[in-house]
Amino acid sequence: MSTDRYRGYRDPCRAVMQRLGFKVWSEVRMETTRGTFEGLVLPRSETSDELHFALKLGTGYNIGIRHDTVRAVEELGFREAVYKIPEQEFPKDPALPRVKLYGTGGTIASRLDYRTGAVIPAFTPGELYGSVPELADICNLETEKLFGVFSENMGPEQYLVLAEKVGEAIRDGYDGVVVGHGTDTMHHTAAVLSFMVQNPPVPVVMVGSQRSSDRPSSDAARNLIAATWTAANGPIAEVMVCMFGPTSDKYNLLHRGTRVRKMHSSTRSTFRTIGDIPLAMVQDGTFTPLHDSWQPRRADREVTVQARYDERATLLYYYPGMLPDVLDAVVEKGYRGVVIAGTGLGHVNRKIYPALERARDAGVQMYMTLQTLWGFVQMQVYETGREILQLGVVPLANMMPEVAFIKLGWALGVHPDDPDAVRTLMTTPLAGDMTEREPHDGYLIFQGGVPEIREFLGSVWR
Ligand code: ASP
Repeated sequence: MSTDRYRGYRDPCRAVMQRLGFKVWSEVRMETTRGTFEGLVLPRSETSDELHFALKLGTGYNIGIRHDTVRAVEELGFREAVYKIPEQEFPKDPALPRVKLYGTGGTIASRLDYRTGAVIPAFTPGELYGSVPELADICNLETEKLFGVFSENMGPEQYLVLAEKVGEAIRDGYDGVVVGHGTDTMHHTAAVLSFMVQNPPVPVVMVGSQRSSDRPSSDAARNLIAATWTAANGPIAEVMVCMFGPTSDKYNLLHRGTRVRKMHSSTRSTFRTIGDIPLAMVQDGTFTPLHDSWQPRRADREVTVQARYDERATLLYYYPGMLPDVLDAVVEKGYRGVVIAGTGLGHVNRKIYPALERARDAGVQMYMTLQTLWGFVQMQVYETGREILQLGVVPLANMMPEVAFIKLGWALGVHPDDPDAVRTLMTTPLAGDMTEREPHDGYLIFQGGVPEIREFLGSVWR
């Protein structure tokens, strides 16, 4: 249903509450055109819209009631939810490393309040200690909540703050930094931090969870323990993502920030290193390197923070039949750079060539990456590739589309008036965003049902 006709009225539910005299957390009997309901009026969650009340019924179910179906309301009581996890003071041990944990939101920062059905944040050190007491055996943890958003709401504004804050924690002498983040766009933010915070002397570890901590299958505690341990003790100093391993829940993997991607919408083992193998495994306080090249922890390394970003970069996912006006619109709207995710080795159809030409003439930078995710852009192989090269599209080896998009926003921010410098930055490998080759044992996409895979899985999934 279109919400247009509510424009200008801001919040129709609030108006109904004022008119009929009830509040969030009121226990009510609500008479509507669809019947009478009794329940608790819940606060609005991130996902609900402004046209519906959320009512928790006595059965435990939540229902949505459209504001304009409400006829009368009787307030039966008031029952505000307790939004606090029992706080316990985080113990301090001078012998343990100091770790800074920044919270940005996401499932890892939430738990469900069963009484109300609302997802609530949990992030003070005391709350974390209350729910994951193991953290106190690892380090002295200091936490700071920077944002409380689901990760689709992360963007340039938050990236700049986060990068500065990570730089600040490093300069303040923390032994490691953990960033709690929603998993959906964690790979974008991991790329952002890899470019904005270069040469960290200590680990910068991003962590999230697919299931909130109140669920028995939650990955929140184990991911947090592994990430915090890595930040406190890991011998590696890169921007990384620390998440659940692929075949068992016994270990976590550390993925390089420029090579990682969320690959499954719901399973706990959702992050994969693309175009390479993961950096290391972390298990019960041990670090097992998998990769042969990584930056070691080094106290004397000077971090550089370049927190700049230009939002006029975009990512165009090519599809067969794409018409030139899609690209023309981007140019007309004043975008300064486009990353194309092309087919195969880096292709788009002939129809959009004139638009590529117009974009080039307007000074818009264009870069080619691959929808296949694995493998290298090779534009010399087919005629199409050669033609697109001539139209000024620059190939980006095996940089992932999202990583290239983030890098372009950052590069345009760092060099606002120097297109050549932007191009040089884009085509120079940085923090592993482009590699010389992809290991052949990196690319393993299992197909379930095949006998040898079943046999293997039988040996690891007990
Ligand atoms: N939608 C959530 C987010 O990305 C999912 C999660 O945290 O895993 O913020």
